[in-house]
Amino acid sequence: MSGDNVHMTLAEVRDYARATLARVGLSPAHVAAVAETMVAGERDGCGAHGLYRLLVAAHSVAAGVVVPDARPVATRPKPGLVRVDGDGGFAQLAFETGRPLLVEAARNGGIAALALNHVVHFAALWPEVEALVEDGLVAFAFTANHAWVAPAGGTQPLFGTNPIAFGWPRPGAAPFVFDFATSTVARGEIELHRRAGQRVPADWGHAADGSETDDPAAVLAGAMRTFGGHKGSALATMVELVAGPLIGDLTSAESLAADAGRKGSPIGGELILAIDPAGFLGDAAAAHLARAEAVFAGIEGQGARLPGSRRHAARKVSERDGVSIPRRLLADIDAIV
Ligand code: NDP
Repeated sequence: MSGDNVHMTLAEVRDYARATLARVGLSPAHVAAVAETMVAGERDGCGAHGLYRLLVAAHSVAAGVVVPDARPVATRPKPGLVRVDGDGGFAQLAFETGRPLLVEAARNGGIAALALNHVVHFAALWPEVEALVEDGLVAFAFTANHAWVAPAGGTQPLFGTNPIAFGWPRPGAAPFVFDFATSTVARGEIELHRRAGQRVPADWGHAADGSETDDPAAVLAGAMRTFGGHKGSALATMVELVAGPLIGDLTSAESLAADAGRKGSPIGGELILAIDPAGFLGDAAAAHLARAEAVFAGIEGQGARLPGSRRHAARKVSERDGVSIPRRLLADIDAIV
């Protein structure tokens, strides 16, 4: 321990997350699955998706938004389609339940999709696409959220922050993975500005009456904006559709209505697609994946960085040296249960 931070190994982070989630009341299968995404967040230098999320998970349990002992059930509506009914529990266990079936279906058919239904989602998507990439698959993931974001050209909240993730396997290198919200910034970033008494750029959001504002509290009460104007707005719309009605689950507006002011994590679904490169390419897959390396070399060769590279660099350090966790955060977590 030193100063404002506490040093922890990743094994200690795992033990701490598991012990807290068990105290919060999650069943053992959920404890293991949910803790792992928090370990991954700390390991990869994504503190917002690390132990901090224990506070978020505990609140969703206390508010009755999530079913702490939910039992996900997998079905196969078609050979290439896997559906997991998450029974109202956190999405991590539903994903773990569907993952082996998705991998098998993608290997058999070349392409497959996994729908997670009736889940509560608060985590980053990259752990899921990275898990599929480890099995040699190309993966895409989409989930809707709570309606905080206005469509480009409008000013009223309709979309969630609706993240999109993509993963691509690389021979002998960390996978190419990007994972981003379709809003200009994370909602938590606006909240941090509010707490610090700072203004926000005028293009981050709208006040509730639709007027321009640089007041973070006004944006939080009004609407956030999509990134990239009409382009991000179209992508956010796509996420609403494919992670909502396409799989028979909630839109972001429906999720916020279902929350009914409890301030819990989003309720709804997630769509994950997996493509086996060998499906199109057979024995030539390895040669074509090797050819794709030229694209990455072309990016890095001009000094640009690959998405995911910050996380993968942080991982090397944390696996060796452990991580620093704010003492204040641990005190806040210890105080909740
Ligand atoms: P960021 O804008 O922080 O990062 C988005 C992606 O861009 C990452 O893959 C990142 O790689 C990459 N990146 C960042 N900077 C650069 C750069 N200069 N050059 C190249 N690549 C770069 O993410 P967001 O704030 O939009 O989203 C954060 C997380 O929140 C996501 O994991 C998302 O899934 C999650 N989220 C989850 C929601 C849910 O409902 N479950 C809702 C909304 C968001 P790297 O990681 O290496 O920095």
